[in-house]
Amino acid sequence: MPKLNKKDILQILNSTRHDIVKYMSQTENKENNLITYSKNIFIPITEICRNDCGYCNFKKDSTNPEAIILKSKTEILESLKKAEEYGCKEAMFAFGEDADEEEIVQLKLKEYGYETMTDYVVDICQMTLDETTLLPHTNGGNYSYEDLKRLKEVNASMGLMLENSSKRLMDLPAHKKSPGKNPELRIETIENAGKLKIPYTTGILIGIGETKEEIADSLLKIREIYDKYGHIQEVIIQNFTPIPGIEMENFPEPNFLDMIRTVIAGCLVFKDTDVSIQVPPNLNKDTAQIFLLCGADDWGGVSPVSPDFVNITSPWPGIDELENLTKDAGFELVERLCVYEKYINDIWLNEKILNKISNLS
Ligand code: SF4
Repeated sequence: MPKLNKKDILQILNSTRHDIVKYMSQTENKENNLITYSKNIFIPITEICRNDCGYCNFKKDSTNPEAIILKSKTEILESLKKAEEYGCKEAMFAFGEDADEEEIVQLKLKEYGYETMTDYVVDICQMTLDETTLLPHTNGGNYSYEDLKRLKEVNASMGLMLENSSKRLMDLPAHKKSPGKNPELRIETIENAGKLKIPYTTGILIGIGETKEEIADSLLKIREIYDKYGHIQEVIIQNFTPIPGIEMENFPEPNFLDMIRTVIAGCLVFKDTDVSIQVPPNLNKDTAQIFLLCGADDWGGVSPVSPDFVNITSPWPGIDELENLTKDAGFELVERLCVYEKYINDIWLNEKILNKISNLS
C-alpha cells in the first residue's frame, strides 16, 4: 500500500457507510492475529506539574494536602517490589512536567539529596534496574537533549504524547495554560529521542478541540519523525474523557465513529511499518473490541497493581478480562515488554539493560 498523504487521511476521517467498512478491511494484518500488552505498574513520582491542561485529571496543586509532592525512594521501591510479586515487567514512571520549578518540590529534592527532578528520576530508574526485575519506562514531559541522554542510559523505553501538532490548540482550553504542550517543544523532544536512539511511545489525543485536518497533520508528523529516526515503537490513539471537576468537564467525548475513523487512519498511515497502534482499553470499556477490527494491535500498559492515575475514573480491565475480549474478537493476547522486540539489541540499548532483558526471558 503506498504511503498515505493528507488527502487520503482526510478521506478516511470523513468516510461514511461502506467506505468505513472498506477502509477497515484494509487494516487487517494477514501475518498474525496477535494483540500485545505490557504488564506494568504506574508510579506517579510527583503530581505537581507546570502545565494546566483543560482535560487534566492528574495534576494537583502544591497546596492540596493530598498532593504527591515527591514520592521517596523507599515508597517507590516498596511499590516496585509489590509489582514484582504480580509478575509486572514494566515500571512506568509518569509524572508532571518540570515539577522542580515549584519551590516545594525543590525543597523535597534537597531533603532527599538531589538538585533536579532529572537527577532524581535517573537515580530511581537506576534503583529499578539494580534492585528489581522491572524495566523502567519514563514519561515525564519534555526533556532537553542532555537530560534525555542521561535518561536513555537507565530506561528501556520512554514516551511523550504529541497530543496534536497544531499550535492553534494553545489558544483553546485544552492547552492555553500549558506551555509544555507547545507542539514545537514536543516535536523537538520526540526528535531528540530519535537522535539518541531511544525506543519511544507517542500518540495523539482526540476530542480536545482539534479539527480533522489537524488530526491528519499530527499523524503525518509522527510518520515523518518515524521515517527519519525509526524509534517510534507505538502510536497511541487516545480519546478525551470528560470527568466531573476538570475544566473541560462539559466538553463532549469524541464520537465513537470518529474514534473508529481515527484508529483506521492511524493504522493505515503506519500499515507498511511495524509500528503498533494502541488504544487504551480502560477508556473504551464497552467498545474496545471494535478497535481491534480497525487494526489496532496493542492495549498498552495494563496494571494488576496500580490504577491508571491519569484516568483515575477508568479502571483497567483485569488480564483475564482483556484476554477474553481479545479472544472473542478473534485475536490472541500476548504479553510484551515495554521495549519492542526489534529494539532489543546494542544499537538501541546498553549492555546493562540488554543483560537484564535476557535474564527476564
Ligand atoms: S495532562 Fe499532564 S501535562 Fe497536562 S497538566 Fe496534567 S499532568 Fe500536566
